[in-house]
Amino acid sequence: MMIPVNLIRQYIFCPRIVYYNLLTDIKPQFPRHVSLGTEYHTLQDELLKNRRFKKLNINYREIITGKYFSMQDPGIGGIVDLGFVCEDEVVPVEYKFIDGKPSLSHKLQLAAYGKLMSEYYGLPARRGIIIYSNNIKFYQVVFSREIWNKLQKVIAGIQKIVDTEIFPDSSATEKQCSQCEYLNYCNDRI
Ligand code: SF4
Repeated sequence: MMIPVNLIRQYIFCPRIVYYNLLTDIKPQFPRHVSLGTEYHTLQDELLKNRRFKKLNINYREIITGKYFSMQDPGIGGIVDLGFVCEDEVVPVEYKFIDGKPSLSHKLQLAAYGKLMSEYYGLPARRGIIIYSNNIKFYQVVFSREIWNKLQKVIAGIQKIVDTEIFPDSSATEKQCSQCEYLNYCNDRI
C-alpha cells in the first residue's frame, strides 16, 4: 500500500490516525485549513522576489507546482506544492497556514517530499523550504542525517501498522485527543 506523505505528520501526532485512515472506512471531514486556490501563484511570485529567498541561492532550472510523485522503496507518494529543480539538487517547498517555527513533523514531511523529488529527478535533496501564508516568513530546513533517520523510522512505523493491522497504542494527550476528529472512535480515551 502506498503511504500518503501527508500521513507522516498525522502519525507523529498520533499513530492511531494512520490506522483509521488507511485501514478503516472511517473518514471524518478534515477542515481545510485555508483554501488558497489561485493565490498560490501570487505566493510563489512573492517568494521568488523576496530578498532572503535570493540569498538562498537556489538556481533553479525548473519550477514544479502541485505535482504528484511516488516511489516504490519506501512506498510513499504525495503532491509537492512547489519545488525547485536545479542542476545539482532538488528543493521541495511546503505551504503551511499555521504560523510558528516548523515542528519536527513538518520537517519530516518536507524531507519526504524531498525524497520523492530526489528519486524522480536523480538529484540530491539537501534542503527544503517551509513558507507561511505570509511570504515574509519562510524557513529553510536543512535535511540532516538525523532528519533522514527519523523519517525512515516514521515510515517504518506506518508500514508496520499497515502490515500487522494491529490497532496501535497512543500516547496522545487529552488536549490532542480533544482536537481529534477520531475521538468518537477511540473509546478508551478521555
Ligand atoms: S482521539 Fe486521541 S488517541 Fe484517538 S486517534 Fe485521536 S489523538 Fe489518537
